[in-house]
Amino acid sequence: MKIYISADVEGVAGITHWDEATKNHPDYPEFRELMTNEVVAACEGALNANATEIVVKDAHGTGRNIISSKLPKEVQLIRGWSGHPYAMVQELDNSFQALLMIGYHSKAGTANNPLAHTIKRAVASVAINGELVSEFLLHAYVAALEQVPLVFVSGDQGICSDVTALNDQIHTLAVSRGIGSSTQSMSPARACQEMKEGVTQALKRNYDKCQICLPNEFTVEVSFKEPDVAYKASFYPGAKQSNDQAVQFQTNDFFEVMRMLLFVIKS
Ligand SMILES: [Zn+2]
Repeated sequence: MKIYISADVEGVAGITHWDEATKNHPDYPEFRELMTNEVVAACEGALNANATEIVVKDAHGTGRNIISSKLPKEVQLIRGWSGHPYAMVQELDNSFQALLMIGYHSKAGTANNPLAHTIKRAVASVAINGELVSEFLLHAYVAALEQVPLVFVSGDQGICSDVTALNDQIHTLAVSRGIGSSTQSMSPARACQEMKEGVTQALKRNYDKCQICLPNEFTVEVSFKEPDVAYKASFYPGAKQSNDQAVQFQTNDFFEVMRMLLFVIKS
């Protein structure tokens, strides 16, 4: 059984402030270690469910956060960013039996995590067909393109509610919740224990119903915090400016949505 794990940091137990997610900040080493521990727990849970190969994508910031020496020997780790539109699930294809997301977080424009955002902090919101979307939903749709079931998501309570609203067969583990600029979290030890047990359970049952359905049409609206960024983005082929701070793009091919996001949302 071949498993793909996509890992972010803004939804790991305890994280509360951007300093903790920012490489080279003195607060960061503790949180890269907590992220690593949650990923290791998920890998151990997958191995207990008879996974034989695990590909982990380090999907936060530089893509170089996970302490690779701590990973089990069955793991292949993807570090950095290739530039492929699949982004946080780069190299995902239908040779994988399941996708897991660890440390995922609430979307831009919501109050469920002080670190809520979608893709980049310069983005005020991303909406598809009139609904705000998260990094979880975008990459769940990539999994749908590749026909890989999404079986497990951990992160803050806000993202776990979004997951359940989309498909209540997906196993969720909410490790924290945001209250204004604060969070209330499980202890990291408890989060790792529940991660390991939850991933094993999620992979041992029949997860055929964890396939995500793609909409037939996509009207994407990206709103930026600064109007000059929206102006530049409006020159992406097929995009048009919908107001001073936003661009709109329509397609019936979800790959084109991810391609557009790659080019209009840059650091
Ligand atoms: Zn991140």
